[in-house]
Amino acid sequence: METKSTTVSTPSNFIKNIVNEDLKSGKVSQVITRFPPEPNGYLHIGHAKSICLNFELADEFKGLTNLRFDDTNPVKEDTEYVESIKADVAWLGFQWDGLFFASNYFEEMYNRALVLIRKGLAYVDNQTADEIRETRGTLTQPGTNSPYRERSVEENLDLFERMRAGEFKDGERVLRAKIDMSSPNINLRDPIIYRVVHAHHHNTGDAWCIYPMYAFAHPLEDAIEGVTHSICTLEFEDQRPFYDWVVRECEMPNVPRQYEFARLNLTNTVMSKRKLKQLVDEKAVDGWDDPRMPTISGLRRRGFTAEAIRNFSREIGVARSYSVVDSKMLDHFIREDLKLKALRTMGVLNPLKVVITNYPEDQVEMLDMENNAENPEMGTRQIPFSREIYIEQDDFMENPPNKYFRLFPGNEVRLKNAYFIKCNDFIKDENGKVVELHCTYDVETKSGSGFTGRKVKGTIHWVDAKSAIPAEFRLYEPLILDNEENEDASFLENLNPNSLQIIQGFVEDNMKQAQPHDKFQFFRHGYFNVDPKHTTSDRLVFNLIVSLKSSFEV
Ligand code: ATP
Ligand code: MG
Repeated sequence: METKSTTVSTPSNFIKNIVNEDLKSGKVSQVITRFPPEPNGYLHIGHAKSICLNFELADEFKGLTNLRFDDTNPVKEDTEYVESIKADVAWLGFQWDGLFFASNYFEEMYNRALVLIRKGLAYVDNQTADEIRETRGTLTQPGTNSPYRERSVEENLDLFERMRAGEFKDGERVLRAKIDMSSPNINLRDPIIYRVVHAHHHNTGDAWCIYPMYAFAHPLEDAIEGVTHSICTLEFEDQRPFYDWVVRECEMPNVPRQYEFARLNLTNTVMSKRKLKQLVDEKAVDGWDDPRMPTISGLRRRGFTAEAIRNFSREIGVARSYSVVDSKMLDHFIREDLKLKALRTMGVLNPLKVVITNYPEDQVEMLDMENNAENPEMGTRQIPFSREIYIEQDDFMENPPNKYFRLFPGNEVRLKNAYFIKCNDFIKDENGKVVELHCTYDVETKSGSGFTGRKVKGTIHWVDAKSAIPAEFRLYEPLILDNEENEDASFLENLNPNSLQIIQGFVEDNMKQAQPHDKFQFFRHGYFNVDPKHTTSDRLVFNLIVSLKSSFEV
């Protein structure tokens, strides 16, 4: 597991400026932020953005960050998700200061609701959810008061206690804040703050049958923990007045402030736990950690590093306006991260056997190869070369078009770090498919020998046939074809049928030692990760992380 070594200085952004001001003016003495996921799914790259923002902000000002599970909805939450979220945050390189569950505050939240009732600021309503919605009014029309709005404090205390005691069925009673049914902000039109739900909770079991609503619970959670800067996404901007109302009227000693930023959207990516869960449940993918998923566990299995994700999050910055980030930008950061770290090696996809007819039988020579041409510190290795090798089927054409510089009958190419070879003949199977080439090599042309006799235009890669290890390559394209999906359209209809392509081939014999999550650059192909799920002691599976080239630069 990677650990965060030093405090990084993040680029300036509006939230950082606010924190700076608050510290300077003495409004806060120590910054406390939180990352508050609901444990109803696995975290995705959007959450990573929020994690980096909260942890790095606090870190930079020597503050604290809590990991808090916002588990106030018993129905969708699960301990499997709790564990995966902890693992993902830690893998990203962050250590939380406090680890909290909102459900541990249920008693305190209940008591705060009593404070509201006693102040005449909350009442029990008998109306159904539909009735409440219908009387809420619209953006242009005020709502109408509930017939139960003027209940006495005593009656409300009694009813709320009976709600807790289990006297009512789901939906029969709710507790509402009593604010203003004609407020221009619909969120202030007597929002529901407690509802009856007879369901088992992953943490509190059957202790409760009333649960606080998110909009009421969240400000209390922040206040209980002494959070100073509560950072959330823009959809919650209209909730801010109610957030402040709850903190004030519940008489919370600590006063957190909410700040909103634009959520991360990525091209060709669905970014909602609900939709990702649908992909998993409908088996469109191989679980939450399928390498095509934008989940942190999927990105990790694909081969993305925590450092690349952190750098990406930092670079895209913190904005207040809606935008969609090109997913190629994330690719850029993983290329940058692996460029000087990954061993560069030869992997042959869709192999074609080549017999070098003038190479002595039984001879094997060891050739020098740099481990990373851009990073000499990674040293060199020796790779075997002998009479039979594999090249890629794509590197030979019987009838090549113009400007095809790879192998074709009569043409000569350079084998990377080895010799020039010339194609003299080929063998086809009964279907007319070329299955073997016969070539000759020129001993004079050995790589590194300083040969200048003649030039060839093409260089191709290869592996020694006798020692090569079979391997499976899994190539990926975006899971979703375009980004036009909206909340209503079924994104499942936009699934890319070519998102996974499985190809067999060979890798160099030194790959015997490869371990899950080792990362390599295969020449001419891209960066690959040893898949932790499918790789076994006798089966190597590589996930394409990202191809070598991109038209995108930041
Ligand atoms: P989803 O709709 O994917 O379930 P959510 O916002 O409901 O996301 P939570 O578990 O409530 O998921 O989110 C935890 C934190 O992560 C919240 O503070 C939320 O603002 C933040 N977050 C979620 N999605 C994004 C995103 N795409 N970009 C930035 N922050 C995000
Ligand atoms: Mg949510």
